[in-house]
Amino acid sequence: MTTQISGRGSASAPPAWPTVPKEAARRRREVPAGEGLTPVTLIPGDGVGPEVIGAAVEVLEAAGVRIAWERQEAGAVALRKYKTPVPDELINSLKRTRIALKGPLETGVGQGYRSINVHLRRTFNLYANLRPTRNFEGVQTPFNNVDLVIVRENTEDLYSGIEHQVAPGVVESVKVITAQASRRIARFAFEYALHNGRKRVTAIHKANIMKLSDGLFLKCARQVAQSFPTIRYDEQIVDAACMRLVTNPAAFDVLLLENLYGDIISDLCAGLVGGLGVVPGANYGEHGAIFEAVHGTAPDIAGRNIANPVAAILSAAMLADYLGDSIAGQRIRRAVGEVLRGGRVLTPDLGGKATTAAVRDAIIARLNGLTETAQTSV
Ligand code: ATP
Repeated sequence: MTTQISGRGSASAPPAWPTVPKEAARRRREVPAGEGLTPVTLIPGDGVGPEVIGAAVEVLEAAGVRIAWERQEAGAVALRKYKTPVPDELINSLKRTRIALKGPLETGVGQGYRSINVHLRRTFNLYANLRPTRNFEGVQTPFNNVDLVIVRENTEDLYSGIEHQVAPGVVESVKVITAQASRRIARFAFEYALHNGRKRVTAIHKANIMKLSDGLFLKCARQVAQSFPTIRYDEQIVDAACMRLVTNPAAFDVLLLENLYGDIISDLCAGLVGGLGVVPGANYGEHGAIFEAVHGTAPDIAGRNIANPVAAILSAAMLADYLGDSIAGQRIRRAVGEVLRGGRVLTPDLGGKATTAAVRDAIIARLNGLTETAQTSV
């Protein structure tokens, strides 16, 4: 059966949401058949993290994905316990496994330690942040035909962390853009488009103002585009792109963005498809990947068993793809699609009354071939 998430609208379409094929193939070779469990670092994180990541782990297990979890603490929870938000054990585990399923980590606004999310992406050179964003049947939104993929550069831009005070009352934050990182992320976007049945890559920029930095980003994207003649390439200024996204999101396919624009546009696009509770993500590098939903710690709903686990579960499905088990990944996506389409087991962010645990159980029941009527814990 074809659901809305299992292809770009038709049964003959290429499979939706596969990960970078080269990476998946490499992982498959690295884990000899029959050897058993793949070690993966598990970072439950802060805020709603433990609730939604816990649900994702159970769904992966129900789908039969064979993982040996190395559970690690990071962020605020680690700071309280070990006096550092990035314990050595966490870094050592990531060096060993090179793969993680991660919950959100708390970062202070305007003060405190620097973002651990950014630190991990940069330490392990996870340069490409991929965020597939699409509608689900059963989730009421102003549009019903959104199906776009955000490709965000993860290692530089205003996230370089270079900030200083020039004089009292005057500060500078440095935006770093390099040709090497720009070409690398552009190539990732085009390769993703090529291998996933996508037709177009749109580079988003503000090169009319930042002529040097965004100008260089565009120059590199144009160069890379020439090597992919079957993929259409165009460009939009970020403010105009925002307006078009909220009036005609179906006009977009793959979006290629620098780090900061990518962060902001990701949340905007999440709003188009039902909110942060349903958008997954992954950070890929040449030698590893961290899978994490777009959303943050959601402190307003943490610990109440009402966070939507779908974004974390769909991120876990991307992890299954990466481990070479794309059949499990696809089964998880189908189960999620069916539960959402059913419209009865939805968390409050989607207008329902179900708990995090109830959504998890409904998805696992679908994976096991049961129907929602067998569920009692809504
Ligand atoms: P952070 O500082 O960690 O980014 P935040 O609250 O600023 O936290 P998000 O955590 O992304 O940002 O949350 C933004 C809004 O979206 C909040 O109202 C939050 O409750 C909601 N939200 C985020 N994730 C979920 C989720 N999984 N389920 C339901 N609502 C969510």
